[in-house]
Amino acid sequence: ASSSSREPGAARDRLLGGLLSPDFDEPACRSRYEGSSRWKPSPFPVSAYLVRKLRQYEANHRRCGPGTSRYREAMAQLQSGRNGDRGECRYVVWLPVQGLGNRMLSLVSTFLYALLTGRVLLVHEPPEMEGLFCEPFPGTSWLLPASFPYTDVRFGSESKESYVSMLQSNVLRYDDDEHVGGGGNASALPAYVYLHLENMNLRLQNHTFCEEDHRALDGFNWMVLRSDSYFAVALFLVPTYRDELERMFPSKGSVFHHLGRYLLHPGNPAWGIVQRFFDGYLAGADERLGVQVRIVWHHPVPFDVMFDQILRCTREHRLLPELTSEPHAIVRPSNSTAKPKVKAVLVVSLKPEYYDKLHGMYYNNATASGELVTVYQPSHDQDQHTEARAHNERALAEIFLLSYCDEMVTTSWSTFGYVAHALAGLRPRLLAPLDLSKMRSDVACVRPASIEPCLHSPPSLVCRRTQDLDPVAHVPFLRHCEDVGFGLKLV
Ligand code: GDP
Repeated sequence: ASSSSREPGAARDRLLGGLLSPDFDEPACRSRYEGSSRWKPSPFPVSAYLVRKLRQYEANHRRCGPGTSRYREAMAQLQSGRNGDRGECRYVVWLPVQGLGNRMLSLVSTFLYALLTGRVLLVHEPPEMEGLFCEPFPGTSWLLPASFPYTDVRFGSESKESYVSMLQSNVLRYDDDEHVGGGGNASALPAYVYLHLENMNLRLQNHTFCEEDHRALDGFNWMVLRSDSYFAVALFLVPTYRDELERMFPSKGSVFHHLGRYLLHPGNPAWGIVQRFFDGYLAGADERLGVQVRIVWHHPVPFDVMFDQILRCTREHRLLPELTSEPHAIVRPSNSTAKPKVKAVLVVSLKPEYYDKLHGMYYNNATASGELVTVYQPSHDQDQHTEARAHNERALAEIFLLSYCDEMVTTSWSTFGYVAHALAGLRPRLLAPLDLSKMRSDVACVRPASIEPCLHSPPSLVCRRTQDLDPVAHVPFLRHCEDVGFGLKLV
């Protein structure tokens, strides 16, 4: 094909069907356009409505973002200690908590919340996240200015600024029509509300996802939010948002896929890692298989058991070629000038031993089919170090490297794995959770119903209503997760 016939398609891929704005300076964030063209075309078309919403969001962020007179006015209101009248610009401040996978899930969820409520998303970037992600909105910044007063507050469910605490202390009250308000006078409300959306014993707090609560939250010009969860799923349970969500996402199971691709671009240092590793080790392969192994201290699956489960999974689903039993075989295709097919395996784990053993298998033995299997691991930091920027850059790079694979084996419960397969737009082979008392799972791995991440901690729907509901019984596009039985995911 001539270059001119390739251009329209290439241009479309570069902007991911209109998802990305073309108005960026490319060298400042090389991953934005280079990364988008590495992914396979998305299985889910981007809706024109979502594109329109994103462009409107960007325009509003430019109007209200840091450095504008409107932002200064809003800050003055915040510092006055009162909510004041409904502001022209309204904000949601995201505070980071937990590892990178959790952060990416909650950041995308917060952005979706901002889209639905007309708020401007501002991100607190602690030193360990500096430059980790690029600015996602053209001509402005999403970084919370250092003058913002509340980033050092240790917010929790008990904080007096928390929405639920305000209900409990009658700063906010339900009236007879199931409305919540500060005595009907929004200007008398506190200067901001804190929304606590962290997983508490695998649930989100009562009074965080009911219609009446969202109406009350809407009364605040400033919201500060902390979450470790993919609470985007829970927004689908609030009837007020349902129409907008359906228009933005005709395929429900593509929310993280599109919004993550839109919002989360590795900064140049992390992107350099992706590029060097991809071009050096993975680009030349005919196929790429990602294997992500996450072992956590509270579920210590022994190495042999986990390795065996990975092999069972790859064997049962023909993800890796069998080894030949001939000890010294050098198998070549019958036409010896043809190049053998190369399958690259990207092992991503904090621990080195999975790579070591898999690499050894294909280094010491030929495959029965004659395919070549190359096995690589980019890093093995041993332990999680969320406080260290270089460690986080490697983690982010590895999430993106995984997302450029054709197939993926991932670990149950891991938000790191969720982000990688949702960005890629593929359903992984999810290693089934292991019963540690039996040291074996009945099936090695399962195929999730959708590419979406799982919300581990479903919201309670107990608000004015006294009984909890299982949302899956009432909402057609929700399922319980394959790895987390009580979790919720969009399909
Ligand atoms: P989760 O704990 O699996 O849900 O994922 P998180 O990303 O929230 O937290 C785990 C953190 O540990 C990551 O963010 C990394 O800092 C680190 N980590 C875990 N697995 C890997 C890995 O395979 N590679 C790298 N580089 N870091 C990892």
